[in-house]
Amino acid sequence: SDLFDESVRFADLGLNDRILAALDRKGFEHPTLIQAQLIPPILNGKDVMGQAKTGSGKTAAFALPILHLADPDIPMQALVLAPTRELAVQVAGEIEKLAEDTDIKVSCIIGGESMRKQKKSMEAGGHIIVGTPGRVMDLQNRRELSFDRIRFAVLDEVDRMLDIGFRDDIRQILKTCPTDRQTIFVSATISGEIERLGRQFMKEDAEKVETVGSSLTVSMVDQKYLSVEPWDKRTMLLYLIRKEEPETTVVFCKTKATVHKVTQYLRDKGVSVREIHGDLHQTKRTRVMNALRQKQVDVLIASDLAARGLDIDHITDVVNYDLPEDPEVYVHRIGRTARAGRRGRAWSFVTPEEGQRLTEIEKLSGALIEAVFYEDFEPGPI
Ligand code: ADP
Ligand code: MG
Repeated sequence: SDLFDESVRFADLGLNDRILAALDRKGFEHPTLIQAQLIPPILNGKDVMGQAKTGSGKTAAFALPILHLADPDIPMQALVLAPTRELAVQVAGEIEKLAEDTDIKVSCIIGGESMRKQKKSMEAGGHIIVGTPGRVMDLQNRRELSFDRIRFAVLDEVDRMLDIGFRDDIRQILKTCPTDRQTIFVSATISGEIERLGRQFMKEDAEKVETVGSSLTVSMVDQKYLSVEPWDKRTMLLYLIRKEEPETTVVFCKTKATVHKVTQYLRDKGVSVREIHGDLHQTKRTRVMNALRQKQVDVLIASDLAARGLDIDHITDVVNYDLPEDPEVYVHRIGRTARAGRRGRAWSFVTPEEGQRLTEIEKLSGALIEAVFYEDFEPGPI
């Protein structure tokens, strides 16, 4: 596959036995390309910016060398920031699994959940802090978190984290970390502009490592588009689900209102469906994600809250109910399927006015998106 480097074994990369044991248990046989290329410079103390496709194991690529270098006597020595609570929880969980045989403990610091529990977890070790910027800053301001001894600072989904919405928070947090720290940024999409911006936070000799090749999307995703009038989208979605019988589907809509309406429509038609977007209470968001992970839901209707980073291996299909305005968002959305070398399908609904946008998506992603036409599709009543 275009994902793994089968000539390399994890043991060749110089990771310690405790980490190798965890990898063995997880069934990771070979490092992915990005892991083989990122782990050595991180072990050598370098700052790195890593760009690799969705689902190519970027989490372990930064987590493994940090675990190898981490000192069990230093609390709060690594900080990993992610753009959504769901992603922070997932990343913390993955690092925790990789750390099982070590003395390194992970704490997850996210909004919408009990601060007391998070403080307790930090007292139980808290060598590696994984969190969202808002709650992290909040606890830092209350002096519950201190970054005086940070040796590793990681931004997952770095382009999103340096977007206008997060940039000031990130700047403020990184300013409080020692300057001789190691800085590690990863994403599937790192433009020249983001790279320049990111380098402001890194040492001068920071390395850029990329394994994306000519296409930003994974070759294992079969990408299709359907021409559809805006008012036929709901019927088309139901038709698609019945016709193609996907195992698990994530459907991305532009607004929370659309997410909600489409969810209700499918529920009325008897589809096993849930919704997720930023207006829902955190307990509800967590419940929905757990149900999805446990295969209790066939279809998840989502805002772009779920576009980035989420790793759920049984997601077989992604639908762009509304085409994203930003071509990079397309790359991330369809990256929810075909993870770690699996197969997947992506379907994009394109209205007559959106032809140009589809072309822009193809141009940025380097993907080939083919038209599909269903002869027996009957548009619903207007
Ligand atoms: P990315 O951040 O690049 O989108 P993730 O770090 O979420 O990807 O990893 C995607 C999936 O691949 C996860 O389920 C992870 O456990 C798995 N994975 C990571 N590295 C390996 C490997 N070397 N071999 C097999 N599976 C791996
Ligand atoms: Mg990731």
